[in-house]
Amino acid sequence: MNFLSLIEAKREGKTLAPEQIQEFIREFTAGKIPDYQMAAMLMAIYFRGLDTAETTALTLAMRDSGDVLKFPRDKRPLVDKHSTGGIGDKVSLPLAPLLACLGFRVPMISGRGLGITGGTLDKLDSIPGFQTLLPATQIVAQVQKVGCVICGQTDRMVPADKKIYALRDATGTVPSIPLITASILSKKLAESLDALILDVKFGCAAFMQTKADARKLARAMVALGNECGTNTRAVLTDMNTPLGRAAGNWLEVKESVACLESRTGFQPVRRARQRGQPDLNNFSPISSARAGWKPDLLCGDLRSLVLDCAAHLLVQTRKSKSLSAARKLAEDCLNSGEPRKKWDDMITAQGADLKAFNKKLALDSSAPAVVEFKSANSGYVSQCDARIIGEVIRDLGGGRLTKESAINYDVGIDRIAKPGERVEKSDVLCRVHAANNAQAEIATARLKTAFEITMRRPVVTRLVHAVILPPRRRI
Ligand code: URA
Repeated sequence: MNFLSLIEAKREGKTLAPEQIQEFIREFTAGKIPDYQMAAMLMAIYFRGLDTAETTALTLAMRDSGDVLKFPRDKRPLVDKHSTGGIGDKVSLPLAPLLACLGFRVPMISGRGLGITGGTLDKLDSIPGFQTLLPATQIVAQVQKVGCVICGQTDRMVPADKKIYALRDATGTVPSIPLITASILSKKLAESLDALILDVKFGCAAFMQTKADARKLARAMVALGNECGTNTRAVLTDMNTPLGRAAGNWLEVKESVACLESRTGFQPVRRARQRGQPDLNNFSPISSARAGWKPDLLCGDLRSLVLDCAAHLLVQTRKSKSLSAARKLAEDCLNSGEPRKKWDDMITAQGADLKAFNKKLALDSSAPAVVEFKSANSGYVSQCDARIIGEVIRDLGGGRLTKESAINYDVGIDRIAKPGERVEKSDVLCRVHAANNAQAEIATARLKTAFEITMRRPVVTRLVHAVILPPRRRI
């Protein structure tokens, strides 16, 4: 193959044939194309783009660069969710056991965090004994037996993406819609899924800052997922505010468990409205300790998004006829407490020390220092900036500046007051969990710019802004 002529063709804006794309991915994976030539091709793609047929060919070639998971025939559909990432985004953790209890098989292959965005595997690594790196045989066996697994990609899965992503990271070619689409979907398609729900985030702490860009990416991924034979939908969700009330690896595991136990931690929206609280997608977290609930156990928007994702997958796999029926099914299942038990089954199957986990769960904090950040005024929370909160957590040691950085799993921020909630002077806006008091104080000072308190109650925007269906279908 003359790879130079392919680089030149793409540089001139020409279309590459599927066979040419398959061949250069095969050759690059085998180490027969040097990084500098592949970097040039990636830059040509960044500027010239790929059409649908080219993106499909690239995605499938990347998927086939390594092992594709093979599952025995089973009436339980294989499903998964992928999020483009955000602050406090822990949806995968409660969603996997919920889906297993709803009669799905969930081979959830997840990633690690980089920069301010948290990674599912890092959150799970905060559980004593939990193993995230499993061989393919164990992934399949656990999915068949328990119904769900959350683990990392094996060395033999999608090696082309691993090599290409590292090059993109070093050459400024990450923000390209066809390259992102191929990267994400090649990994998801290697799970042999029947259905996939994508959570494409937009806002100040998201990969895609504007709703328009997020919509473009979602449309590209939905079209391609369906083209490749996986029933794929996307939700566009707001990432200007952290999801839930906690961000930071262990604190998010704690909140996920609270979500799985959340039936008693919620008030129906009617009661919440009487209290003057906003409607956060049907469930409203109760704003303060005055309501008599433990604030760190409340996770209304999180619960709502978990139920939405489950509901879409129920409809996508025709287990439910309508979204409203599906949501009710998912809600009843979550309220039954079975997904909470399934969570224990899942983490035990992956080596967790349940006794140590429960002991850790019972602690108010596993970090050496906890400092409350209090409101200087009375009013309504009108802003809780997810980007600043993400940066503060990263700098507390909870995130990575480089792929090699070590993580402190116990630091983070919880009891986060959310936009629309009423606070009085000196009420807690959030708590900082840090390695020591000095770091907690620095973080608290930085958080002053994250929160805004206004006299007027702000209009609270919806969490889910749109559902993206395959082309030519309407919800
Ligand atoms: N996540 C991925 O896995 N790949 C991308 O290209 C971007 C985000």
